Amino acid sequence: MDVRLVDTHCHLGHIERDLEEVLGEASDAGVVRVIDVGMGTAESAATVDRAERSDGRVFAAIGVHPNDVAEFTAAPEATIEQLRGLAASETVVAIGETGLDHYRDRSPPDLQEAAFVAQIALARQLDKTLVIHCRDAHARLIEVLQGAGPPERVVMHCFSGDARFAALCASHGWFCSFAGNITYPKNEDLREAARAVPAELLLVETDAPFLAPQPYRGKSNAPALVAHTVRALAEARGEAADTLGAQLWENVGAAFALRV
Ligand SMILES: [Zn+2]
Ligand SMILES: [Zn+2]
Repeated sequence: MDVRLVDTHCHLGHIERDLEEVLGEASDAGVVRVIDVGMGTAESAATVDRAERSDGRVFAAIGVHPNDVAEFTAAPEATIEQLRGLAASETVVAIGETGLDHYRDRSPPDLQEAAFVAQIALARQLDKTLVIHCRDAHARLIEVLQGAGPPERVVMHCFSGDARFAALCASHGWFCSFAGNITYPKNEDLREAARAVPAELLLVETDAPFLAPQPYRGKSNAPALVAHTVRALAEARGEAADTLGAQLWENVGAAFALRV
């Protein structure tokens, strides 16, 4: 593939290798920008720090992940104010990942919802993109998001809904970001969902170090591998990978209001 790519969602702090090596390898593979996602305020601060020292290669998303909302529950206002302070960095393009996870029960659903609602409001106030994590909670997620009033730009990260959910997101102008699991042979439902998303609302990500695409499944993932997901997405949609890649580059600018 002869296009520049962006990994729109990864966790650089969880990749147990030298950062320059990871970014260099990504750049060699055409992945010239990454969005690094912090899960919690301490990680988010580290994410912003990495982004600020990256010469424009790394952008930051900051938030409290639904699987661990303890800090928000203990001190909701202080947590949101910390995120607001971090968002002053021009490297911060998004609030999140936040959302609902009914697959893992590490946090009670009502506490997840409180943290989600507060982060939706923060994204709206700051005019940042909202990056959503959703697992086994799609119907409730839409109710909460609509009830709270979504910001202008919304991204469903590591898309896991069906084709109907994808069409619903598209009707709102929300972006659907596909990860390495779209390359797994059994995930035909995910490929069907990807066909329901208009080209201008598609994104790709690695969610590294998790969810490595085929043929690296089960190994540690890294931003350099996002091209495998682009190829699988293009194949599922019957499109040329280069054409899709160029479209994805444009979409990143629209989804995160940034000039890449
Ligand atoms: Zn997630
Ligand atoms: Zn993630």
